[in-house]
Amino acid sequence: MDAKIKHYDLIVIGAGMVGATLACLLAQKGKKVAIVENYLPDNFVADSPPELRVSAISRASQNTFIKIGAWSKMQAMRISPYEAMHVWDGSAEAQRDDDIHENMAEAGVQGQIHFNAADLGEPDLGHIIENKVIQLALLDILQHEPTVDLLCPASLVDFQVIDELVLVTLDNGHQLSASLLAGADGAHSKVRTLAGIQINQNDYGQQGLVATVQPELPHQSTAWQRFMPSGPLALLPLSDGSCSIVWTLPADKADYYLAMDDETFNKELGKASGYRLGELKVFGKRAAFPLVGRHAKHYIKPHIALIGDAVHTIHPLAGQGVNLGIKDAVALASIIAESSRSPGSHLLLRRYERARKADNLLTQKAMEAFKILFGHQLSVVKAARNIGLNLVDKMDPVKHQIIRSAMGISG
Ligand SMILES: Cc1cc2nc3c(=O)[nH]c(=O)nc-3n(C[C@H](O)[C@H](O)[C@H](O)COP(=O)(O)OP(=O)(O)OC[C@H]3O[C@@H](n4cnc5c(N)ncnc54)[C@H](O)[C@@H]3O)c2cc1C
Repeated sequence: MDAKIKHYDLIVIGAGMVGATLACLLAQKGKKVAIVENYLPDNFVADSPPELRVSAISRASQNTFIKIGAWSKMQAMRISPYEAMHVWDGSAEAQRDDDIHENMAEAGVQGQIHFNAADLGEPDLGHIIENKVIQLALLDILQHEPTVDLLCPASLVDFQVIDELVLVTLDNGHQLSASLLAGADGAHSKVRTLAGIQINQNDYGQQGLVATVQPELPHQSTAWQRFMPSGPLALLPLSDGSCSIVWTLPADKADYYLAMDDETFNKELGKASGYRLGELKVFGKRAAFPLVGRHAKHYIKPHIALIGDAVHTIHPLAGQGVNLGIKDAVALASIIAESSRSPGSHLLLRRYERARKADNLLTQKAMEAFKILFGHQLSVVKAARNIGLNLVDKMDPVKHQIIRSAMGISG
């Protein structure tokens, strides 16, 4: 191979939250890493309004960020702990609002479930963090790692596997080689396409509308989630008293809500939230993202591994997408770091696929089951759902197990 081509242990395509985590973990184990990204976020400005894209970050992901040294950098920018979570079945109220059912008795008792960090002896259940804050903190670490080359702006054009090495060509004409190429380049992964890895895809026919709103009542550091037949509405508490919303809507309705003027939008949103936090006032832009479940048929090919959204996307109703991606990064990094084999060894890559596939698939299917369960309008399903929610709410051991699992601190 050409002597001018720089060689690494690992080339990561995509310095999003997941790719940057993988690069940090392996660089801190002494591996030579190139990380390629076509776009970097602007610097963080204190007192700037919250970004539209936020993530609910689990305790497991927080622990990874602490290990890397990125958590304190996120804290220094902006993070929002939430101490409770309140989930309720809003189908009865939704019908009341829309005045479809005259007979409210038929709607039955409203199901709800409340999770409290204090009941678990934990300070919080997790944190709401702007995606940009997470990415900037990780990039800051990478820029100070002596074994890392952050190549940006640059984009993957092509790669070839030759003699136990991957030869990568970038759009700036540079070529690099490595034992392993990790595709962390998101849902429309070019690495996945070029590797010829097929995906199973399920278009949910919905969009996730995101916006920042100021509630009339304090959010009480609680993540509020109302399930309606059309999809859930989440109000995620931010440290400045505002809430970030993720409102799942049928695709055509999302476009309609995006085009609305602020005043009409506020009215619709207030109604959809059941006025749990009083009136809601949107500020700044709104955006919507198509919701599509994807799962790659294979996670690996010789000298190639996919992680994060490149290998799976799930419904955002429980805020687990990036948390699964961080688990992929942790699994791949520890399998590589614990072995004396080269990072692209097929044995190690197969170990990685085995370690992550079942958990990712199970979480994706669980989210789809919730979506179907809460989408049902049959009286009998609604009644069973409400009774079930209220029953679990009274069963502390079950409730604690559910929330510990969502926090990533038990199976
Ligand atoms: C509405 C909504 C709400 C969500 N809320 C949550 C939540 O609360 N909690 C949660 O855990 N998850 C949530 N998710 C999911 C979460 O946003 C994703 O799982 C996460 O962003 C995936 O991160 P990633 O690093 O794998 O991919 P991405 O964030 O897509 O990053 C990919 C990176 O690769 C770069 N790239 C792409 N192609 C190339 C190329 N050819 N060359 C170089 N660079 C390239 C891109 O610029 C980008 O920086 C939500 C998703 C949606 C849609």
